[in-house]
Amino acid sequence: MRKFIVGGNWKMNGSKALVNEISGALNAGDFGPVEIVVAVPAPLLPLAREKFKSTIGVSAQNCSQEKSGAFTGEVNVDILKDINVDWVILGHSERREIFKESDEVVGKKVSFAIKNGLKVIACIGEKLNEREANQTMQVVIRQLEAIRKELSEAEWANVVLAYEPVWAIGTGKVATPQQAQEVHSEIRKWLAANVSQKVADETRIQYGGSVNAKNCGELQSQPDIDGFLVGGASLKAADFVTICRCK
Ligand code: PGA
Repeated sequence: MRKFIVGGNWKMNGSKALVNEISGALNAGDFGPVEIVVAVPAPLLPLAREKFKSTIGVSAQNCSQEKSGAFTGEVNVDILKDINVDWVILGHSERREIFKESDEVVGKKVSFAIKNGLKVIACIGEKLNEREANQTMQVVIRQLEAIRKELSEAEWANVVLAYEPVWAIGTGKVATPQQAQEVHSEIRKWLAANVSQKVADETRIQYGGSVNAKNCGELQSQPDIDGFLVGGASLKAADFVTICRCK
């Protein structure tokens, strides 16, 4: 009952030419039961919305928790909606690490975006030292709790969670299907206990971190993996198409 969802996170990469190339490849395909969302850098969003067919979602990679005003360099929800962008990735580990977004800021951004009509891919995940210290679930639950306390039960319908272990992002070191499944299943149990059984059953949990055309098949077969958030491999049309077809 959870529709598989594959996101492409271009990060600070791409060009108008790449929008044309990847939209051409995806528009030509029929991905049946898989929902696709492509997150391009902000200046490419209007072009992406124009080029990708309407069944493919277009996403920002961040947005402000402020409505508007004197916040030089920021992008707000109203402008995203004005250009028909209906998704945003929030809390990516690069935002948390490099741009020092705290759990609290991420929770507030998720809440603001959802209350103002966007759908959110909310990222959570532990760093290598945290995994090695057996703190994976402690960290993931702390990040989840900061989001949970800002949301009503109904608002979870517009949240996709992306579990992205930081040690697997951009490293080529993918989590094993068992490692990912274990955390996804714990997240679902936490949602059941702390939000509701309905939200636990219906919330999609993507895995992200070095997903590629070769490892996507085994990962997708895990019962609690409901999609992927793909970085590097989403910049290569053939690889991304293969990942979108893995279900
Ligand atoms: P990667 O990035 O697929 O290049 O590891 C994933 C992400 O950061 O979302």
